[in-house]
Amino acid sequence: MNEVHARHVSEVVNIREAKTHTRERRNDTVTSATSARKPKPRPRPKKRRFSDPAASYAKRLERYRPGLVTFTLDRLGERYGRPTWERRLDPTSELILTILTQNSADTNAEVAFEALRRFYPSDRPAEAHKPGSGWGGIGLSEAPPPDWQRVEFAPLPELTDVIRPGGLANQKAPRLQSTLRTVREGRGDYSLEFLGDMTALEARAWLTRIDGIGNKTASVLLLFCFGLPLLPIDRHVDRVLRRVGVLPPKASLEQAHDLVLSLFEPDLMYEAHVNLIQHGRKVCHAQRPEHEICPLRERCRFVDPKAP
Ligand code: SF4
Repeated sequence: MNEVHARHVSEVVNIREAKTHTRERRNDTVTSATSARKPKPRPRPKKRRFSDPAASYAKRLERYRPGLVTFTLDRLGERYGRPTWERRLDPTSELILTILTQNSADTNAEVAFEALRRFYPSDRPAEAHKPGSGWGGIGLSEAPPPDWQRVEFAPLPELTDVIRPGGLANQKAPRLQSTLRTVREGRGDYSLEFLGDMTALEARAWLTRIDGIGNKTASVLLLFCFGLPLLPIDRHVDRVLRRVGVLPPKASLEQAHDLVLSLFEPDLMYEAHVNLIQHGRKVCHAQRPEHEICPLRERCRFVDPKAP
């Protein structure tokens, strides 16, 4: 019986061992199959470089329409001359004058500015504003700038009446006061001379934080008062650049202000601004542009959509 029992036990042990081996083999098989199916680790995606869209656009334009910007500037320079930069007014006067020109003729803005000088005189040194190229007015007389504190604290109906000849006085009077208030609260006085120590983009960012001051107004001030390399895009500049094809048709005005910074050399911004305004006023009118006398005609996409 003992012998029988011992044999039985030995058989059971053998069977168990056999089962264990089988299971291990199966596991091995499964493991090797799994490892065979395991996907190879993918190579890490290369880090995407977020390039400057303005620089990319400038490169693309140069690849597909080589020399277009230089052509435009050279042709306009031959026609209108090469204006050189000179300061027109102190930056606070320039800012207020620029606000007065918004949606108004330059001559009307000048009348409103002269009225500010008369009603709120200051004892600061006189300054003149000569009508440089690109400016559509007749220039300002030589007189001290207005007393900005008196302008800021003037009763609103009074200030509105003073600047009424400039147009849109109901909108502009409160804007003048809020602009002066923001400058005084931010800096302690009305001087904007500190902007000349900043980079062009820092100074533009500081100014555009003021309610109602966009890239155009800020760029006008910084270009004309400090010669900082910015190209203000008013309606004339915008029209000519889009028609020729230097600016893409769908770019917003704010985008256009950044695109031009990569398209034009910093030391040519002033010349570009002044001559593009002249061209928009004298030849490339919004209605009935005079293509036949235009020096840009051979490369203008408005005239020939396939122009080189
Ligand atoms: S060719 Fe005509 S549309 Fe083109 S820039 Fe000259 S005037 Fe303007």
